[in-house]
Amino acid sequence: MNDVFAEFPKGAKCTRCREYPNIRLASHHTILCSSCFLHYFRTAVQRAMKKFRITQDQPILIAVSGGKDSLALWAVLSELGYNTKGIHLNLGIGDFSRASVEAIEKFAADRQLTWSEYSVETILGFTLPEIRERTRRAICSVCGTIKRQLINRLTINEGFLNLAMGHNLDDEAGRLLGNMVRHRTQYLEKQYPYLPSTHPRLPAKLKPLYRLEAHEIRTYCKLMNIAPLEMKCPFSRGATSHLFKEALSFLEHKMPGTKRDFLFTYVNRREPPQPESPYQVCRECGEPSYGNLCSVCNILDRMSGKGESNPVDELTQASYP
Ligand code: SF4
Ligand SMILES: [Zn+2]
Ligand SMILES: [Zn+2]
Repeated sequence: MNDVFAEFPKGAKCTRCREYPNIRLASHHTILCSSCFLHYFRTAVQRAMKKFRITQDQPILIAVSGGKDSLALWAVLSELGYNTKGIHLNLGIGDFSRASVEAIEKFAADRQLTWSEYSVETILGFTLPEIRERTRRAICSVCGTIKRQLINRLTINEGFLNLAMGHNLDDEAGRLLGNMVRHRTQYLEKQYPYLPSTHPRLPAKLKPLYRLEAHEIRTYCKLMNIAPLEMKCPFSRGATSHLFKEALSFLEHKMPGTKRDFLFTYVNRREPPQPESPYQVCRECGEPSYGNLCSVCNILDRMSGKGESNPVDELTQASYP
C-alpha cells in the first residue's frame, strides 16, 4: 500500500513549521515533518470528537481487533486524555485470533491500558469457523451481525454508553459509494460517523477516525511504535466492499482529495441521524430486536435447522455498524 513517507530535495520545508519534511499528504497538497503530521492526526480526531460532542469525562469503550485502525484509535484517544478501555471479541479463528490477542496484549501492556476479552465460543457455544460450517450465508455477513450485536450487549454490560470503532475515511467512503451505487436509501440515511443510542441496551456508536485515510493511520502507527496485527482473516477473500474502496483509490490517484471531498460533502451537509427505535424484545435472549427474534438468535436457530427469515432485523442491523 502507498506510504506517505517521502524524500524531499534539500531546502524543502514543512508546510506548517518550515522544518525539513518527511511526509507527503497528497490529498491535502501538503508536506509535513513527523511532529506536524502527529499534530494533524490528533487534530483530525479532536475535530471528530467535537462534532460528536463527546468530552474527556465520558468513558469510551473501544472495540479492538488488534489491527492498525483499532490500535491507532485507542492510542490517539488515550493521548488526547479520553477515559478509555478496550474490548476484544475473540472469534476463535485459529492462528488469526491468537495473533489478534497477542497484538492487543502487547499494545495494552506497553501503555498500561486496560481491556476485556470475550469469546464468541463461550457466549454462543460455537467458534466462528464452526458457525461457518453450519450456515449457508456469507460468513462475513454472519460475522458482522454477531460482532455488532455481541459488542453492543457487552458494552452496556461493561457499564459504558459510548462505543468507539476504528472505521477510517476509506472504509466510510467505500461504504458510501457502495450504498449509492446500489441505491440503498435506508442505509444511506444512517451513514454518519456518529449514531446516538436509541435504546437503553444499545450504546452510542462513534467513528473518531473517519477523517483519516488508511495510509495516514499506518503512518501514525509507525511514528508511535504501534505494532498492529498484520495477518489477514482467512475468510476475508472476495468481500465486495474492497471493490468500492479500490474504485475510489483509482479516482484519488488521478485526482488527489476526491475521496475526502466525496465523504465530507455528504457527511457535512447532514444532521446526525436519529434512527427510529421500534424495538421489540427478542423472544430467545431478551435483547432489543427489530423482530421477535434478534439477528444472532436467528442465526443460531437457522444453524439448528429451525430457522426463519427475519429480513427487517438483518436489514436494519446491517446498516447500524
Ligand atoms: S474477514 Fe469476515 S469473517 Fe473475518 S473477521 Fe472480518 S468479517 Fe469476520
Ligand atoms: Zn513541521
Ligand atoms: Zn436474541
